[in-house]
Amino acid sequence: MSLFFSEKLSALKPYVPGEQPRDKKYIKLNTNESPYPPSPQVKTVIDASAIEDLKLYSDPDLKALVTAIARHYGVDSNQVFCGNGSDEVLSFAFLAWGHNGVAFPNISYGFYPVFADLYNLRSTEIPLQPDFSLELKLFNNKAGLMVFANPNAPTGLSVDIDEIEQLIKANPNSVILVDEAYVDFGADSALKLINDYNNLLVVRTFSKSRQLAGARLGYALGNKELISDLNRIKFSFNPYNVNRLTSLAGIEAINDNAWFDNCCEKIINTREHLKHELMRRGFLVTDSKANFVFVSHSRLPKDTLYEALKKKGILIRHFKKDIIENYNRITVGTDEETTALLLAIDAILEEYRS
Ligand SMILES: *Cc1c(COP(=O)(O)O)cnc(C)c1O
Repeated sequence: MSLFFSEKLSALKPYVPGEQPRDKKYIKLNTNESPYPPSPQVKTVIDASAIEDLKLYSDPDLKALVTAIARHYGVDSNQVFCGNGSDEVLSFAFLAWGHNGVAFPNISYGFYPVFADLYNLRSTEIPLQPDFSLELKLFNNKAGLMVFANPNAPTGLSVDIDEIEQLIKANPNSVILVDEAYVDFGADSALKLINDYNNLLVVRTFSKSRQLAGARLGYALGNKELISDLNRIKFSFNPYNVNRLTSLAGIEAINDNAWFDNCCEKIINTREHLKHELMRRGFLVTDSKANFVFVSHSRLPKDTLYEALKKKGILIRHFKKDIIENYNRITVGTDEETTALLLAIDAILEEYRS
């Protein structure tokens, strides 16, 4: 830290992303990226003329992209906001609506507390139940902005849409932000409620289910007033937040339903197979509705599995956090990667026989 750094920000603990190793080739199951490539349509539009156009700024209103997303979900264009990854959308949301406090689960996406600290917001952590489930009622009257991921990360557990609607109704003076980064892998979306409530924002990403993590594209769907708030922030920060190549890629990805359905289906099938195989080996496995599983094994406490798999060239994620310290999160890969993972786990379980 330099002598010149803001004193107010000096205590800030930045978010720590999962490893993106460059030293050797790993089977990479640690950051919930897709094991499949983007829609083949994407490479048809990133062509010489798209590259030539990079000399021009991108469209600050992102009209073509916003229209494609609106058409896909059957909503109006003024109900869609796009950002440089959903991380940016989330950060704008915290800035826009966090002034009366923000509440989020104590075990959830690690960026929520970072944004709260960055903007110096009062934050309330809602404790998960012992089985890691989230009691949405505990949010009631806690903050002006209520944020949770559905399904949650890293547990993979989802909440019922009826409970979400109860929360929205019970807190008409709060914005309810549902982070649906993983919703396409089997949870119920709150999207169908956005026309009924002015205080619901659904945040989505192209990173997990549309294979574009490296392009950085996220979006929000909600009431048009909420969307206009986000635009006020964006136009006070960076009007060109989504670049030209990413916009083109996003349009192709959102339009290619067959590719999307096929990739999601493969990941869901592999996930269920992986859960089953891990349970057969004595793992506790949560009922994940995401593109990862969250598991523990009595013979492999804390980060034992993480360390042992890393030695074998497979990366997974372990979080050093009290109530989940014996759990590890494993992203669902291809069937071949899953076979290699299970073989490695068999060898490790053999090594750690009591
Ligand atoms: C991955 C993830 C995000 C961030 O996605 P980007 O669009 O890549 O910024 C947001 N929320 C949750 C819960 C995530 O897991």
